[in-house]
Amino acid sequence: DSFHDVDMGEIIMGNINLTRYTCPTPVQKHAIPIIKSKRDLMACAQTGSGKTAAFLLPVLSQIYNEGPGEAMQDSGRYGRRKQYPLALVLAPTRELALQIYDEARKFAYRSRVRPCVVYGGADIGQQIRELERGCHLLVATPGRLVDMMERGKIGLDYCNFLILDEADRMLDMGFEPQIRRIVEQDTMPPKGIRQTMMFSATFPKEIQILARDFLEDYIFLAV
Ligand code: AMP
Repeated sequence: DSFHDVDMGEIIMGNINLTRYTCPTPVQKHAIPIIKSKRDLMACAQTGSGKTAAFLLPVLSQIYNEGPGEAMQDSGRYGRRKQYPLALVLAPTRELALQIYDEARKFAYRSRVRPCVVYGGADIGQQIRELERGCHLLVATPGRLVDMMERGKIGLDYCNFLILDEADRMLDMGFEPQIRRIVEQDTMPPKGIRQTMMFSATFPKEIQILARDFLEDYIFLAV
């Protein structure tokens, strides 16, 4: 078992070596090829399973491999008032959002893919200034993202990768209205066009409904 079983490009592979992850965890071993094959995914995985890298690596490599492409050049443009990220990760808490962002920065090193993070309870002006420097992959808590969208700072028109991390915890915290507002808005690419990945520790009825509404012909993975 090795990360080299799936080709993720030289730069991402180099960054995996820098993080000293030698062997993929079970969720990484199974989820990375599924995501690389462009299928939607519903994964039941706990915190500590390595799920963050399981979605970041294949998504960053897909964004990066389109590097010279129009989408990558046009989105994340420095100095633009409104940013159009290519990938969005929704997470329940500031702590988790920051962890995902830190890992994204490590894997995106030297790739020209620029990650950003926004979360509630912190100065929004500072976060807006960071966004305006360019954003290809956005990690966000749902309430703060709705606020950013209402202020015209974020457009999801080119967001072809959507990840809901710890989806059960987001529902427990009452974020379903904000999540639906984000995912079901007119400008977001519809399911079947975008690629959607949901991660959740549990798979109760409410998560099954969300999976039915947000995912297209998805693969179910339990590790
Ligand atoms: P996560 O479940 O994504 O929050 O990851 C849990 C912890 O495991 C984090 O500290 C990661 O940096 C670490 N980790 C993730 N994947 C690997 C791996 N393949 N090898 C070693 N450590 C890892």
